[in-house]
Amino acid sequence: MTNRATTPEAVRQTRAILEEVRRITTKPWNIMEICGGQTHAIMEYGLDQLLPEEITLIHGPGCPVCVTSLELIEQALQIAGMPDVIFTSFGDMLRVPGASRDLFSVRARGGDVRVVYSPMDAVKIARENPEKQVVFFGVGFETTVPAIAASILHAEKNQVDNFSVLPANVLVPPAMHAILQSPENRVNAFLAAGHVCAIMGYQEYEPIARRYKTPIVVTGFEPLDLALGILMTVRQLEEDRYAVENGYPRYVTREGNQPAQLLIKQVFEPVDRQWRGIGMIPQSGLGLRSDHRKFDATTRFDIQFTELSESPLCIAGSVLRGVAKPIDCPAFGIQCTPAHPLGAPMVSGEGACAAYYRYHKVR
Ligand code: SF4
Repeated sequence: MTNRATTPEAVRQTRAILEEVRRITTKPWNIMEICGGQTHAIMEYGLDQLLPEEITLIHGPGCPVCVTSLELIEQALQIAGMPDVIFTSFGDMLRVPGASRDLFSVRARGGDVRVVYSPMDAVKIARENPEKQVVFFGVGFETTVPAIAASILHAEKNQVDNFSVLPANVLVPPAMHAILQSPENRVNAFLAAGHVCAIMGYQEYEPIARRYKTPIVVTGFEPLDLALGILMTVRQLEEDRYAVENGYPRYVTREGNQPAQLLIKQVFEPVDRQWRGIGMIPQSGLGLRSDHRKFDATTRFDIQFTELSESPLCIAGSVLRGVAKPIDCPAFGIQCTPAHPLGAPMVSGEGACAAYYRYHKVR
């Protein structure tokens, strides 16, 4: 199969767009790509190297695995280690270090930890194992929530009462508010994550663009999409405009996927959530509504809390807030590598540190 990203026509168009970026840029601008998937594509194709020196790409907090709090990971580790529990998760979470261990180490000690590709797989496991409690670790941005909501409704309808979800989903717009309100903010514009907008649309970004006078461009994941998103953003900045524009119309509409949004609203409601390395962001997470709360793993299991602390070497919080790059971390590539990660951004497929390590920015 041809890789659309690297067809001669796509390369030609990407080069032409980057040339236009170079032509119109007159001032320094900091543009944050929100999604870690975009960070990986930028690093893989070296787009950051092809931009004029006035343009700095800042890597955002859009790695849900990376921002899952130590407290939630500790809850997951404790539940996964309980007898008669099957703990299920997307594969990315298994190697994410908690305060002192990860889900892999719980599995190595006999915990029944399984990788699933969909929360519905976890419901199936629950039906097949009625004597066990089956828990799904609900990590992700808005993109994963409709499937989790559907799995809860399915379990409810079919009385799969031994299924529950550890809710850890986070929302993009509150994180954008937090970044823009921070005294250390240096973001002039955002590339919004196309897959999140495919679900949520982009209406909810319009008040953010107006309030902070900050351009936002819905952007995809291929080099051509990213180059186009950067061009649309720089045009706005240079023309002193701050609108929300759609650079990914083949998948995104202003209204988004309304049936998926209804599904989310039916099962979840916004709650305050702690972001790893960033802190508490009001109304930035999703918790189960009261009529579905019996599927909430946090109320089903007795979890003991102890004092939790990060590795003192890890500056993931600064990386996730966009105030430092992975190569600013003294542990990058030395004490911290994908084989021996000190922080989540080095393990996740969407982590900025993993992107720098994988694509040519190794010390
Ligand atoms: S390189 Fe490792 S230690 Fe440094 S910020 Fe990234 S995850 Fe943390």
